[in-house]
Amino acid sequence: MHLNIVTAADDIQAAWPVFKPAVNPATLTHKQLLRGEFWRKIPAYADVDEQTFLDHAWQARNSITRVERLFATVQGVASQEFLSDVARGFNSSPMSVRLSPYLVSLIDWSRPYEDPLRRQFIPVQSRLLADHPRVGLDSLNEQGDAPVPGLTHRYADKALFLALDRCPVYCRFCTRSYAVGVDTDEVEKVNLPANTQRWRDAFAYIASRPEIEDIVVSGGDAYQLRAGQITEIGDTLLAMPNVRRIRFATKGLAVMPQKIVTDEAWRDALVQVVEKGRKLHKEVVVHTHFNHPNEITWITERATDLLMERGVTVRNQSVLMRGVNDSVETMTRLIKRLSHVNVHPYYVYLHDLVKGVEDLRTTLATALHIEKNVRGTTAGFNTPTFVIDAPGGGGKRDVHSFEYYDRETGISVFTSPAVQKGALYLYFDPLHALSRSALRRWQDPVEQEAMTRAAIARARRLDRPFSGVARGVAGKSRLHVEDRAWP
Ligand code: SF4
Repeated sequence: MHLNIVTAADDIQAAWPVFKPAVNPATLTHKQLLRGEFWRKIPAYADVDEQTFLDHAWQARNSITRVERLFATVQGVASQEFLSDVARGFNSSPMSVRLSPYLVSLIDWSRPYEDPLRRQFIPVQSRLLADHPRVGLDSLNEQGDAPVPGLTHRYADKALFLALDRCPVYCRFCTRSYAVGVDTDEVEKVNLPANTQRWRDAFAYIASRPEIEDIVVSGGDAYQLRAGQITEIGDTLLAMPNVRRIRFATKGLAVMPQKIVTDEAWRDALVQVVEKGRKLHKEVVVHTHFNHPNEITWITERATDLLMERGVTVRNQSVLMRGVNDSVETMTRLIKRLSHVNVHPYYVYLHDLVKGVEDLRTTLATALHIEKNVRGTTAGFNTPTFVIDAPGGGGKRDVHSFEYYDRETGISVFTSPAVQKGALYLYFDPLHALSRSALRRWQDPVEQEAMTRAAIARARRLDRPFSGVARGVAGKSRLHVEDRAWP
């Protein structure tokens, strides 16, 4: 039978010589997942067998939060010079540090400065850059839209429920560094513990608002909820007639897939909420957060296979980061590898204006370029939408929907009529991507104000959708009188 298929394929090639030649399977790199006991190359894990490495409790117990522990773990594979740089980076980071052994094993310690996973999770002093003058701690103004602590109600029909403030790992670029993790030298965090009274207030608010249909359960990270808490939250929300959709948000699959594989109680609790929702004709799904193809290994595949078998839909939201996934090649491989393990690539976010991670931010122009080249490489339903979460609370906007974008000053202006009519939302490209003359202007507070005002004025004058003229040519204004401009 196999031979017949090969013969048929050869016949097709012979009959239609201009037909696309079959690609060499070796070039389909998105299918080539890391296999074997890859963790054993790390000195501290050299004697760890597969059963132990797959144990979620072992992963949690051996997660690294202190620099001394990191040193002991990678001593011999990372250089002393690099480790000293890390020690200084730990002290000046606004974000807590927490690394799972899984993550530590996936970093190329012979090239740690360039490694895309190291860049996301381990700060090094020598690579930190001064913050853009317009970055802030809660750049999305989540607290400003929170009727009760830990519940953000911005879009009319959707609420974001921050059930807790702990995660299986801590990401340097976290938008919620104002609350997530423990206090650091730089930041005293807003407290959002998994507290029953706080949850009751959040549930009461959701139940009181008939317009809310969609709940994102996040944090922190739903991975850190106990199985019983998953059930409690799921059952409570599903019992509300107004709630039609629930999303459990967890980065866990990307940083500790072992939990799905070996924490049966947690996995069963999630699956039961999904099944209960299905019987009620309500959708319950998982939203996760992969940023680089190296995060997807045979262990991830085993975890996503288990979720697929139990009928759990998983969608992915990535953050576009410099030196991590800001190339067409890497982003394409990420998207195709996600699809390969049955995770739908849903969103790619432009990096939020977060403190302490200017080295990771990239430009709106980069997002536009990558989106243009990625679209068409795979099916449309597996192609993510590239968005910007409009600073100040405008919500997600398609990156192409800017009213005005000045590539010289790096200022882009967005509107969000369904969230706040008349408001303008400003995004700022990182200073390291600007010309010297623009950089000089950003160093002068008077010039900062002038550039910002000029961008707002241009955005007000432009009428891109109706004029049909090129950007930058003034037309009839479609913008309403500005109530406010963020940030
Ligand atoms: S897992 Fe999510 S919430 Fe937690 S630190 Fe990372 S980005 Fe922030």
